[in-house]
Amino acid sequence: MADYKALYQEVILDHNKKPRNYGTLEHPSHHAEGHNPLCGDHISVDLQLGGDTIDQIAFRGESCAICKASASMMTAVVKGKTREEADALTHEFLAMATGKLDLSQPNQIGRLAVFAGVRDLPTRVKCAILPWHTLLAAFHSQGTASTES
Ligand code: ZN
Repeated sequence: MADYKALYQEVILDHNKKPRNYGTLEHPSHHAEGHNPLCGDHISVDLQLGGDTIDQIAFRGESCAICKASASMMTAVVKGKTREEADALTHEFLAMATGKLDLSQPNQIGRLAVFAGVRDLPTRVKCAILPWHTLLAAFHSQGTASTES
């Protein structure tokens, strides 16, 4: 558990110092904004889909470290995936963050497993899942996502 916590800290720090795919896209095909009023997190996600594949993705916003690290890892992991693959991964991540995923079973989580610990931190779960909810909102062109809706 100590190793796991150390890795978690390292990943959060690394992604906050060097967020991946941070910014906006010039001509996104899909876009959504996400809010988590409980923490004050606010992020936007831009997507450029080529056919069914996520060719480009970018995020930006004002958020806490957990939200930013989750968004940064999300963009790195879903880039190049099909919409269907990204959708499946999102549902696995949401299940993991809320303690509903059995990590001993085959899954696509990979290094995102560093976020498994948030299930024990109810106030931080929403910070970790906000980027993923926003990604789903972008796919469905809903425009906005909120952890409170
Ligand atoms: Zn937060």
